[in-house]
Amino acid sequence: MLNDLKRGELIVFAAPSGAGKSSLIKEIVSNNENIELSVSATTRIPREGETHGKDYFFISDKEFNDLKEKEAFIESANVHGHQYGTLKTFVEEKLENNISVVLDIDVQGFSQISESIKDIISIFIIPPSLDELKKRLVLRGLDTEEVINKRLINAKKELKHAESFDHIVLNDDFNRAFNQITSIIFDKNYEYNDTNNKNILEDLLD
Ligand code: 5GP
Repeated sequence: MLNDLKRGELIVFAAPSGAGKSSLIKEIVSNNENIELSVSATTRIPREGETHGKDYFFISDKEFNDLKEKEAFIESANVHGHQYGTLKTFVEEKLENNISVVLDIDVQGFSQISESIKDIISIFIIPPSLDELKKRLVLRGLDTEEVINKRLINAKKELKHAESFDHIVLNDDFNRAFNQITSIIFDKNYEYNDTNNKNILEDLLD
């Protein structure tokens, strides 16, 4: 089933940090050789274990601004105080080779892309609650308290944009969320009742 994509498609994922987006994307990509994750450029410092060219292209502000000036990005945004951008050449090369590309970007990036590209699958991942989100951010131990607080403030802002995505997927159970995403990507006629997810989104926005 996971080889059913006929040509390269753009699949955009967004979520507040801690919603489990990266793990879900990793699972989707590792289960399908026809889907790859776009490697973005960023001015953020690499975290322990991150590799240049695999997790991100870690570049300086000057390099980032030069690329931006040369229109090398499909979209770019300042997220949590750092610059991030999707590289045009990276994405185009994959799509031309019938590889679908997952973009793990923030809502500002999605709004830029959706203005210029119509044929995309867009998925917004929501956590079951803001308390759960905070718990996950603390547990993963990647960020300082200050950074976690910044990410939680941004989470509320990001959630306000969830409804502009084609699909809202609740990640309260990893396997269920993974199966739902798989169906969204591979089954063009797949319809699910997302009223429950929308109700949870409303609670998150309260
Ligand atoms: P992190 O620093 O935790 O890897 O990523 C922080 C946020 O930046 C995440 O929400 C991620 O989706 C977003 N991000 C990563 N790459 C890009 C990109 O190329 N463009 C945009 N707009 N956001 C990105």
